[in-house]
Amino acid sequence: IQESNPLKTINDEIFVYVTKKQKEIDELKKLELFRREFLADVSHEFKTPIFAAQGFIHTLLDGAMDDEKVRERFLRKAANNLDSLDVLVKDLLVLSQMETGDIKMNMAAVDMRLMALNIFGRLENIAKSRNVTLKVKPDELTEVWVKADADRMEQVMLNLIENAIKYGNEGGKVTVQFSEGKKYMEVAVRDTGPGIPHEHLNRIFERFYRVDKSRSKDIGGTGLGLAIVKHILNAHDTKIAVMSKPDKGTTFSFKLEKAFTSAHSEQSEEDFV
Ligand code: ADP
Repeated sequence: IQESNPLKTINDEIFVYVTKKQKEIDELKKLELFRREFLADVSHEFKTPIFAAQGFIHTLLDGAMDDEKVRERFLRKAANNLDSLDVLVKDLLVLSQMETGDIKMNMAAVDMRLMALNIFGRLENIAKSRNVTLKVKPDELTEVWVKADADRMEQVMLNLIENAIKYGNEGGKVTVQFSEGKKYMEVAVRDTGPGIPHEHLNRIFERFYRVDKSRSKDIGGTGLGLAIVKHILNAHDTKIAVMSKPDKGTTFSFKLEKAFTSAHSEQSEEDFV
């Protein structure tokens, strides 16, 4: 029997303890850095609409108000900037609730096909203004039941479909496609737009990351849409995937657990009769 060396045992324990503490310190430093970067990003994003609105209002007060046409135009611009600020604050709130896990998920059976059609209705005007055709595939599907939090999933679909319309090509097509597996349903949102350059694909889910800063700001985005999408899908225990080909288009896809297996849904329909 080998006798244990008490000094070595103590040394080993100290080593394990110090390593553990070091890891905790590293983790805290990372969190602190994240917090500081986040604050810097948020302040920067707030500044743009605030400065713009301030500028228009001060110019009006300094005399531009006397011209009726200028007055209306500047007031509209100030209002638009304040609207953007409002969207930004709402998106930030959702994001921070998702990040702290401060959100109760309300899982239920949700018909994704109906949800997609409702969102098409809400986005009809911007689709028309860009001459974009909206489609759900395959045609023969009537209902697509999955397990999801209806409100959060609606936010996911709204963000993806709206992005597909806004960043896709004018006169193009946006398709929501469902592919049924045994246990899972795959949901894909596809556009026929210019695509996302390869080097940006990993980063588009980061908060405030935009491929073309000036263009997406013109379009009215907060840069938080895809970060929110990623967090909501995480909370559904699933992940988002993106595929993009230059000038061919972009597809975002994810899988959700089906609410009923085929056999079960047939049986439960009979049960109801
Ligand atoms: P934003 O509010 O700017 O739209 P998002 O987080 O929703 O922010 O998207 C991040 C960026 O990803 C966008 O600014 C845009 O550059 C790019 N992007 C998102 N969806 C698409 C798409 N379907 N086609 C091309 N680019 C896209």
